[in-house]
Amino acid sequence: MEAQESYPVDVASIREDFPILERNVGGDTTTPGEGPDDTLPLVYLDNAATSQTPKQVVEAIVDYYYGYNSNVHRGIHHLSQEASVAYENAHDRVAEFIGASGREEIVFTKNTTEAMNLVAYAWGLNELGPGDSVVLTEMEHHASLVTWQQIAKKTGAEVRYIRVTDEGYLDMEHAAELVDDSTKMVSAVHVSNTLGTVVPVSELADLAHEAGAYIFVDAAQSVPTRPVDVEAIDADFFAFSGHKMLGPTGIGVLYGKEEILEEMDPYLYGGSMIRSVTYEDSTWEDLPWKFEAGTPVIEQGIALHAAIDYLDDIGMENVQAHEEHLAEYAYDELTAFDDIEIYGPPGDDRGGLVGFNVEGVHAHDLSSILNDHAVAVRAGDHCTQPLHDKLGVPASTRASFYIYNTREEIDKLVEAIDDARQLFA
Ligand code: PLP
Repeated sequence: MEAQESYPVDVASIREDFPILERNVGGDTTTPGEGPDDTLPLVYLDNAATSQTPKQVVEAIVDYYYGYNSNVHRGIHHLSQEASVAYENAHDRVAEFIGASGREEIVFTKNTTEAMNLVAYAWGLNELGPGDSVVLTEMEHHASLVTWQQIAKKTGAEVRYIRVTDEGYLDMEHAAELVDDSTKMVSAVHVSNTLGTVVPVSELADLAHEAGAYIFVDAAQSVPTRPVDVEAIDADFFAFSGHKMLGPTGIGVLYGKEEILEEMDPYLYGGSMIRSVTYEDSTWEDLPWKFEAGTPVIEQGIALHAAIDYLDDIGMENVQAHEEHLAEYAYDELTAFDDIEIYGPPGDDRGGLVGFNVEGVHAHDLSSILNDHAVAVRAGDHCTQPLHDKLGVPASTRASFYIYNTREEIDKLVEAIDDARQLFA
């Protein structure tokens, strides 16, 4: 590995916090974590799908289960109080991290997808109707695209799509044409998980607000990789997932402006979200608990807090610089091959991922050969099928980077791709 000084973050010491990065992979996959035919050192470049977890986050989970595992908000016993405080603090920490004004605006969900469904059902189903429009981008993840499509079908609203240019940028002139008086919601991805495009969401927020609409920002790929501030963006709703930012699976975050959440009906009903119940009727808890029915994601919330502490220690500006550095390096290495098509904007103007195809090699075959080299990437439509249709390909291969990745690992990726090219030549 090259000298750590040449990276925006201290990669060598970061890697020490991730035991999984020390393992070899290959051969048998029936014994998770210890296949007998393990051969090559893992090169993990599938971070846009799920990032790895540092010891500090795992320790927060262990501390919770060994020290104060208990249900929250229901007991006056000591453990329940400790768990409740830790769980509530996790909301405060998330609020601080994304520039929200307080825990009232932070709802813990299962993931970004559930956060999107929460708003689509609790707000969209009540507020949309025939004659209304929901404006999306052509690069929406299915989490947003399919959800709004279904709500539009149920309500009679129209779905419109802002064009993506041939260079992979969002066509803002088209956006200005599409967002009009009929628009009630603009839902846009912040960083495309397929193209790496960084969408100017605060400009979209202005457009939405001028039309009297709300904006929902899908921040699944942005919160893990760059500093964000929901108030600076002026997002009405904003969502992301813990498992893409060093946290565990099973937790997502929905941010909503307090006054909007206050007006919305709950999404799920049951215990924990009520204030009082009679046989005739019920009233709801204060925010954010009104939207967290049943036993919530206690362990995951506490672990997300630890993940945010970890990222904050590195500094999100540095995380972003590292992402951009590796994306540009990978982009430059891959453009050296004239039979590789890279999707999205230029290498110096994208988030930390590169999606591409090698001429004559299906993305699944390519990723299988990369797997033989112990290089983990993602192949498929990345939950953006319509965008792939537009690109004219059924699938693409995506390499995505995080704070522990190195240029040396990208070199291994490129060597493995070259190997596949020769095999299929
Ligand atoms: N939006 C984007 C841009 C994503 O990349 C993803 C995950 O890949 C999602 C939404 C959905 O995230 P989750 O599966 O955690 O709900």
